[in-house]
Amino acid sequence: MKRLGEPVIRTAVGRAMKEMGSQFVLGETIGAAMKRGSKMEEKGFTYSYDMLGEAALTDSDARRYQMAYAKAISEIAGACTSNDIRSNPGISVKLSALFARYERAQHKRVIETLVPRVSALAQLAKSAGMGFNIDAEEADRLQISLDVIEKVLEDPALAGWDGFGVVVQAYGHRAGAVIDWLHQTATRLDRKIMVRLVKGAYWDSEIKRAQVEGLEGFPVFTRKVATDVSYIANAKKLLGLTDRIYPQFATHNAHTAAAILDIAQTSGIDTQAYEFQRLHGMGERLHQIIMDANDTRCRIYAPVGAHRDLLAYLVRRLLENGANSSFVNQIVDESVTPEEVAACPFDALAIDAPHVPTGPELFGARKNSKGLDLTYDPHLDQIETARGAFADTDFTAAPLIAGTPNGGPVVTVKNPSTHAPIGQITWASAEDVETALTSAKAWDATPSERAKVLNRAADLYEENLGLFFALLSREAGKIWLDCMGELREAVDFLRYYASRVEDHTRAPVGLFTCISPWNFPLAIFTGQIAGALSVGNGVLAKPAEQTGLIAHAAVKLLHQAGVPTEVLQLLPGDGATVGAALTSDPRIGGVAFTGSTETAQIIRRAMAANMAPSAPLIAETGGLNAMIVDSTALPEQAVRDIVASSFQSAGQRCSALRCLYVQEDVAEAMTDMLVGAMNELKQDDPWHLHTDLGPVIDDEAFQGIKTYVDAARAEGRIAHELTAPEGGFFIAPTLIRVNGIEDMKREIFGPVLHIATFKAHELDQVIDAINATGYGLTFGLHTRIDDRVQHVCDRMHVGNAYVNRNQIGAIVGSQPFGGEGLSGTGPKAGGPMYMDRFCQAALADRHEEDGTAAPDADKLANLIAQAQSNATLSSSRLPGPTGELNQLSVHPREPFLCIGPGRCGG
Ligand code: FAD
Ligand code: NAD
Repeated sequence: MKRLGEPVIRTAVGRAMKEMGSQFVLGETIGAAMKRGSKMEEKGFTYSYDMLGEAALTDSDARRYQMAYAKAISEIAGACTSNDIRSNPGISVKLSALFARYERAQHKRVIETLVPRVSALAQLAKSAGMGFNIDAEEADRLQISLDVIEKVLEDPALAGWDGFGVVVQAYGHRAGAVIDWLHQTATRLDRKIMVRLVKGAYWDSEIKRAQVEGLEGFPVFTRKVATDVSYIANAKKLLGLTDRIYPQFATHNAHTAAAILDIAQTSGIDTQAYEFQRLHGMGERLHQIIMDANDTRCRIYAPVGAHRDLLAYLVRRLLENGANSSFVNQIVDESVTPEEVAACPFDALAIDAPHVPTGPELFGARKNSKGLDLTYDPHLDQIETARGAFADTDFTAAPLIAGTPNGGPVVTVKNPSTHAPIGQITWASAEDVETALTSAKAWDATPSERAKVLNRAADLYEENLGLFFALLSREAGKIWLDCMGELREAVDFLRYYASRVEDHTRAPVGLFTCISPWNFPLAIFTGQIAGALSVGNGVLAKPAEQTGLIAHAAVKLLHQAGVPTEVLQLLPGDGATVGAALTSDPRIGGVAFTGSTETAQIIRRAMAANMAPSAPLIAETGGLNAMIVDSTALPEQAVRDIVASSFQSAGQRCSALRCLYVQEDVAEAMTDMLVGAMNELKQDDPWHLHTDLGPVIDDEAFQGIKTYVDAARAEGRIAHELTAPEGGFFIAPTLIRVNGIEDMKREIFGPVLHIATFKAHELDQVIDAINATGYGLTFGLHTRIDDRVQHVCDRMHVGNAYVNRNQIGAIVGSQPFGGEGLSGTGPKAGGPMYMDRFCQAALADRHEEDGTAAPDADKLANLIAQAQSNATLSSSRLPGPTGELNQLSVHPREPFLCIGPGRCGG
């Protein structure tokens, strides 16, 4: 690369893309595509043109796509010379290109904005006498796509036009039901529609999404032959509904096509009552033969657009063509016999096949936490009903100790987004802390009994989904997505530590204090406690002042599961009193703390002054987290991940992105897209499904962040900001310009993102600047260069590095979480080394010297050099969903110098 120079490489890559482009793309413009397509038209094929480019992330992109579709329809209109729509070219559109928030959660906006856009295009197509087809996308959009389709079809202006088309994916379990619904809807509205039957192009991502979200099943079939059978069955269904539906069979599989011809012939269906379809660049020979032999119609789906917009489409085609099971792959593979290529899928269905692990099975023997699909109405209804029971509950909570609490101050808890009171909590008094400390006991249950109890608690947490959804929203300001994530993480912690009890044979420390923050009031609270309990400690837990109700609900369930009261005691209260008392008492054997770096330092000093020198402090603290986006990154993917990393949870995650570095060459376009994506965010009461971000936690946080943003505004450094709703502690998403991370003096714990640019040759300087902050929690990188991934990750001192994804939401057991330097003492929560720190330390190997010999300077220098080496001590792959690589590496710490008493030190 260095030798050839970037221009040469760019030219070569450009040429390769052009080659691939012309294989799969008909032309860069509609005009060019129509010209190139004329040869095929002479052979009897027709076309459906598709404008390349994927999901719009901003409204300006969506409008641009809409204009492009409108322009394309006008251009294609010139070629619509027949009165019969079947003989004219058509157009295929993607709804995700026409509205930036084409999602179930934004249902109202989708209906208000997307429906008129689609209707306008459909009317244009109608006036041109051409077919207008809605492509099928991911399964989580199926339901909302049908809502849009229904509304558009209802438009009386479209009456009498037979060109409206819908795509049905046979790999989806709901394919048959969708076809029935389409037929009923067309009948109800007295329309004739076109239905293109495909197998489906998003199989890999459907599998991954369902696994990641812990869903009990998949929305798609997991066996190729099942999809083939579904296709044939649904083809038969469609051929029986030709009164309202013009079936369009899109396949490159000769067996599938032969089955369709056979069904049509044996049912006496006219060859003109349906058509075949193929993709440009695929299935040409097959469809020529079919057409010639059967006098059937065939339409070519022809992507049109610039090569820079090709990537996502190309990836889908390469996945399709590259899969061993794919027909187009098998037919050119000489090791696969013709009998195998054309094997009957019905026969194959009877043979057992490897099982694809579902969400709950992802981690083998350890059950993964159960997720509900927030895009699927039955699951949404389930949550709504469950949490509805607690929508107006006036909660009360108090210390849960092995004794009678006499209680300290009584505090009213308020909803941070409405300020409405939601309950009251009695804090622990100094006497309550003393009672708890006196009665506290380590857990003497056997390891298997402890595991059983923790697993039972996990089940109870899942059973109490409604309670937690309500509390997390009303007390902690969490949106639906975060409630689901938080509950699942808590359950995962319980099951993960339970699954490893037998591996830990060392004695527990004794009593552990667990102090947690408000931003993960259930997950971190539970994770610390479960870690400590799993090896047999007794626990005194102090939740954050702001989120005592959630902690109270959790401890009650842990007790219900079988943790004895004297083994787990809850002491809600203020950090300076209850927290300080629990971290400075010699009866405590260790402290697990998550919160700010400042508090961790106070605790460390209190422990040093009062506890045994060996008492472990497990501190997980804050970060100044950065992300680097270079010029090779995929802009849409990067922006989606930047927005999630900085603004989800209103930026109140320790892992949240604080400082974004974008390579100068792409900074302008990337910033424009980021600003556009920010504009699409919906800030509101998190109780509503449509809310992307809620309030910050309390008035103190609100005032602190507001003052910071006001100062940046006064200095003219605001690159973009939205307007926050009135009423609660809402801070609007804000983008602030900085020269680099060194301009940031502290962690701003809210929806505030800083942005800086860098030149390509400054990459190492950027990494060094990030390292120089002293924090090392999370880091994100977006690049398509493999070597760069390795280089950056090797040089970056950080606990969790994420590549080409967002940098929040670590999964227990898959992405152990924790930082270094000012971000924490380690070990990583949800990782294989966490539980060790709750046990008594093993005796280290000691090298005894009698203390009389003078130190050997060379030997010492050697030892220091060895200790400074940053060589990886071990590296292992951790389990996770299909299509993701999770790697855990262990590096030595910076060298420690221990000077003991002796001739020099004494
Ligand atoms: P085959 O090789 O017989 O089938 C491959 C397909 O089988 C895969 O694509 C997948 O769907 C399925 N499959 C593979 N492995 C498994 C497995 N383990 N378990 C279950 N199923 C499996 N796709 C869309 O999603 N939306 C669209 O709007 C769309 N429009 C299209 C328009 C046209 C004209 C054409 C030709 C295709 C379109 N496609 C669309 C893409 C289409 O989904 C794929 O081309 C099609 O799945 C390939 O099927 P096949 O019969 O040609 O090949
Ligand atoms: P905080 O430090 O103010 O409070 C955390 C906990 O410490 C609370 O329960 C508080 O009552 C208690 N506390 C306060 N003073 C104390 C004292 N003197 N002695 C003992 N306990 C005391 O932090 P916060 O505002 O609740 O949480 C936000 C911070 O937590 C951010 O800095 C964030 O980055 C960090 N955090 C880190 C992680 C991680 O895993 N690294 C996770 C979540 C949050």
